[in-house]
Amino acid sequence: MVEMIVVLFVISVVLMIALPDLRQSGVKAQETTCEANQRLIRSQLENYYLDHRYQYPLEGKVPPASSQEVLNQLRSEKYLQTIPACPSGGDYMLTFEPAGGSDRTAHVTCSVHGELGL
Ligand SMILES: [Zn+2]
Repeated sequence: MVEMIVVLFVISVVLMIALPDLRQSGVKAQETTCEANQRLIRSQLENYYLDHRYQYPLEGKVPPASSQEVLNQLRSEKYLQTIPACPSGGDYMLTFEPAGGSDRTAHVTCSVHGELGL
């Protein structure tokens, strides 16, 4: 009986040490996936921009296109096979630096993780 209690105690101590670490690595993995998604979206926006004479998808649309509409446009024109989803459930917001020349930058920001991979 005493041995049983000791064994349970040892197991619970090991779990208390290991679980926060496991949780941390899950959080880190989600962040890494989100960063990869953001890099992919950004690079495909740049490809689109270069292919379309310095225009981002749906630019100039009135009212302005939502980020979701821009992502749908990238997919329908085959720049994305699927629309990447943040593993933590965040939404991606796309913003473009104001018009002016051929040297603009697109930003992708996750509502959970912010802007990663710059
Ligand atoms: Zn995210």
